[in-house]
Amino acid sequence: MKVYNFSAGPSMLPDEVKLSAQKNFINYEGSGISVTEMSHRSKWYDAIHMEALSSFRELMNVPENYEVLFVQGGASQQFDAVPLNLLQKGRADYIVTGNFSGKAEKSARKYGDIQIAASSKDKNFTYIPEGVTFRDDIDYVHICQNNTIFGTRYTDRTFPVTDATVVADLSSCILSKVVDVNKYGLIYAGAQKNIGPAGLTIVIIRKNLIGKENPLCPTMLSYKTQADANSLYNTPPCFSIYMAMLMFRYLKGLGGVKVIQQINEYKAGLLYDFIDNSSLFTNPVNTLDRSIMNVPFVTGDDELNAKFVKEAEKAGLVSIKGHKLVGGMRASIYNAMPIEGVKALIEFMKKFELENKKCLTFLP
Ligand SMILES: *Cc1c(COP(=O)(O)O)cnc(C)c1O
Repeated sequence: MKVYNFSAGPSMLPDEVKLSAQKNFINYEGSGISVTEMSHRSKWYDAIHMEALSSFRELMNVPENYEVLFVQGGASQQFDAVPLNLLQKGRADYIVTGNFSGKAEKSARKYGDIQIAASSKDKNFTYIPEGVTFRDDIDYVHICQNNTIFGTRYTDRTFPVTDATVVADLSSCILSKVVDVNKYGLIYAGAQKNIGPAGLTIVIIRKNLIGKENPLCPTMLSYKTQADANSLYNTPPCFSIYMAMLMFRYLKGLGGVKVIQQINEYKAGLLYDFIDNSSLFTNPVNTLDRSIMNVPFVTGDDELNAKFVKEAEKAGLVSIKGHKLVGGMRASIYNAMPIEGVKALIEFMKKFELENKKCLTFLP
């Protein structure tokens, strides 16, 4: 049975990418050794590292005045690294649109005068606040571009209007859609949702923001350390970067981010259309703010939700249980989820709806 993995992260990878890694696992390109065994200073790894950096730059269309850094510690490490590197005046505004932006704001509070400029907590994070105003004299505004748990995302309509530097967490939407890097001072993302296995975190930072870190900033968290060493200050997560490189090759082969964006919008459109016309399933998110990566849906009945998750798993649709903060189900349909996977899910939902509506009509 074909299994489709709807996990929010770590998440699925294309078969092409996994097969290529498998083929080269024992003997990488005639080197006689595996990428897992090779020195990060070897010529083989160096070629992988450089290709990964340059392919990522190409896919994201990163301008010359930005640095791309491969770091570790996950997106969560950036919750501290960002304020430690960017606070000069000591003030920053955060928009809290979910779990991760809330954590980012809490971490930053240790380092300066941090304020929540807006939050969507009042409606359980089912929307993105519009027309937010910010304080004067701040170092940056922080947003989470795609809210993995709640299934919302920023669009042009809600994007912060400010002269301050915009910092954004793109962990669950990086490379899923064309992004104009110039609108940001800094973008960060953990790799394990849209790029590859866990272990790699990518930072894109405007060069003039580098080198102004807090004197107490740990050496490993300093963007200057990483930029000066071409992200090879210490041993990087070589195998994760190798897998990311294969994913970048795959995306370039498809035609780049423009093409994967069309596929992603098509997939999300199919699923939302079905949900909106369903008499059993609903999506709790404000329509204009819906994520094209993470689609939460509920039946309104906890027992039915649990039954759905159990039966879906038996049908090969795995890891579809929603986050405990939302309940119900969540389909994460990142770059690697094929259109057939989304169609299989919809077919299963149709069948489930028919079978279970029947029972519901007999209820008093
Ligand atoms: C998963 C996720 C994180 C946390 O990532 P880690 O790499 O586990 O630290 C942060 N932000 C967003 C938007 C996420 O989806």
